[in-house]
Amino acid sequence: SGGTILWSWHIWVVDMDADASGVVYPSGSMFMDRNLGALSTEHTITLSEDAGIYQYCQEIFEGMKAYRTADNKIQLFRPDCNANRMNDSADRLCIPNIDPDDFVQAVKALVEVEKDWVPHSDGASLYLRPFMFGSNPVIGVKPATEYQFRVFATPVGPYFKGGIKPLTLRISDLDRAAPRGTGHVKAGLNYAMSLYNIVDAHEQGYDENVYVDSATRTHIEETGGANIIFIKGNTLVTPKSDSILPSITRRSIVHVAKEYLGMEVEERDVALSEIDQFEECGLCGTAAVISPVGTIDDHGKLIHYAGFGPKIQKLYETLTGIQMGSVPAPEGWICEIL
Ligand code: PLP
Repeated sequence: SGGTILWSWHIWVVDMDADASGVVYPSGSMFMDRNLGALSTEHTITLSEDAGIYQYCQEIFEGMKAYRTADNKIQLFRPDCNANRMNDSADRLCIPNIDPDDFVQAVKALVEVEKDWVPHSDGASLYLRPFMFGSNPVIGVKPATEYQFRVFATPVGPYFKGGIKPLTLRISDLDRAAPRGTGHVKAGLNYAMSLYNIVDAHEQGYDENVYVDSATRTHIEETGGANIIFIKGNTLVTPKSDSILPSITRRSIVHVAKEYLGMEVEERDVALSEIDQFEECGLCGTAAVISPVGTIDDHGKLIHYAGFGPKIQKLYETLTGIQMGSVPAPEGWICEIL
């Protein structure tokens, strides 16, 4: 689709020890002359109240990380996959495509300037959030004609502070995605409608919601912020569905399972009625990495898994080893920055 893209590269820094309210911004402006954008420390955006993003939620985003290796290099993990997925999301929301090379260049430029914010500590990384939204006024229901592409960054600590605690999930009664809806793209609107359910899940003592397919409610899809994998023996099973986000972590795990660990992999429909037959279960995503699941509550029927079981552990070690540079990566997976 058409439309002018306005670019801006933008850093948002959160002090690693601070909670959500302890946001700190770096001082001093860093501008870099490039045709396609500039680095800026200006984190506020002023738009017409009528902008496409405000009225019709025309926004897409990506989530990725910059890692510091043991020998002090900084690298990205499969940024081309994020660039391509952003364009898939763009197509579904009538947002113009970005040249994938420009996407990666923007992310690299930001990380280069903010290299000191890439954590040195084990398991920590610099989270990167490229996003794009309709920025000019539209009152009829139609795509905007101007867009902003921005990237901000924030250091994140290891997912498991103070030891690994397996997650407790519930089978959700609310739906996340319609069969021919937007569940397969990374658009803010998918997360807006999940907020009620995640707040409710937390209030009821669950870590996350497991969504089933909304047409038949008989098959497992994914959780609100991660794909799901199951293990039985030497086999990894993961749902195949057109309405889940094609997780880059999950796709990488599938490769690692087959090519590094010699496991069988089944990407297929996973029936809700069969999940009590698996031994291990985990969530996978950029934030979750691979998070072991201890229990799934299916309306009072509690299904227990091994938590950080042997296969999940091996997958976790191999994947994080690749991301952090201690395990050789498949060709093209690592993008060295510094
Ligand atoms: N599924 C949903 C709904 C997500 O928001 C995410 C984001 O992390 C994932 C899956 C995992 O995707 P990825 O591994 O590309 O981060």
